Amino acid sequence: MFDVVIIGAGMAGLTAAIYAGRSGKNVLVLESKVKGGEIVESELVSNYPGVKDISGTDLMKTVAEQAESFGAKIKYAEVTKIVNRGEVKVVETDDGEYEAKAVILAMGTEPRRLSEKQAADAGKRPVSYCATCDGALYAGKPVVVVGSGNTAKYTMMYLENIASKVYHIHHDDPIPEDAEAVFVAIGRVPQTKFLEGLVELDSNGYVVAGEDCKTSCPGIYVAGDCRTKSTRQLVTAAGDGAVAASMV
Ligand SMILES: Cc1cc2nc3c(=O)[nH]c(=O)nc-3n(C[C@H](O)[C@H](O)[C@H](O)COP(=O)(O)OP(=O)(O)OC[C@H]3O[C@@H](n4cnc5c(N)ncnc54)[C@H](O)[C@@H]3O)c2cc1C
Repeated sequence: MFDVVIIGAGMAGLTAAIYAGRSGKNVLVLESKVKGGEIVESELVSNYPGVKDISGTDLMKTVAEQAESFGAKIKYAEVTKIVNRGEVKVVETDDGEYEAKAVILAMGTEPRRLSEKQAADAGKRPVSYCATCDGALYAGKPVVVVGSGNTAKYTMMYLENIASKVYHIHHDDPIPEDAEAVFVAIGRVPQTKFLEGLVELDSNGYVVAGEDCKTSCPGIYVAGDCRTKSTRQLVTAAGDGAVAASMV
């Protein structure tokens, strides 16, 4: 049995692992995709205190090493269900199940997907949610950016230096026929469906908790972007991770 199982190896989860590991707890971090979380897609982070300019990958490599140096184990598996047996939580994954005295939810958010209509419109054309990852594949070609917020604006600015033409459309507009790739920037959503009925979620699926990171279920805490909060950044995710681990 683990003292704490942490779901997600982004900034929130790995900071929680540093704090919990350093206080002598037996810690398992479960990650479904990439060690480091969503910021590994970012080429440049300039606003994390103490580090002037660094790539997301390099920053998170250090954070993961720090967590492991305090004894945290990081394993690749997707969590599909949590069963609350009072003092014991059973965390079910696509690769076995784990028992823990406490669980920290740190699953972050995922890009909001295209509407069915736009997905049908895109047809077989590639759809990307990360211009810095995939933009270079469309050098000299026409592309389209879907979205109307700041992320869409920055996505367009980035692609304008690469593509031959960048169309800009809003959610549900038709996709121009000659665009060879579709870049989607229509916001982010938490992946918390598997928690329905276990902890309180708000109408957008965020896990409801205040600054103490306590969810509505005793023994289950939440940290980072998947928590109800106003500012979703690395530094606030790290802060939550420290608080949640200190509550365990
Ligand atoms: C393009 C971009 C640029 C950004 N730039 C900055 C910046 O410059 N400065 C800044 O402060 N912030 C920036 N942010 C915001 C920052 O990345 C987030 O606030 C931060 O990464 C949140 O950390 P987190 O740990 O809460 O979530 P995440 O980093 O999203 O990590 C959550 C992890 O949980 C995993 N996970 C999810 N569900 C499961 C499951 N069921 N089972 C197992 N694992 C699961 C995910 O795969 C993911 O790795 C940027 C975000 C984006 C998208």
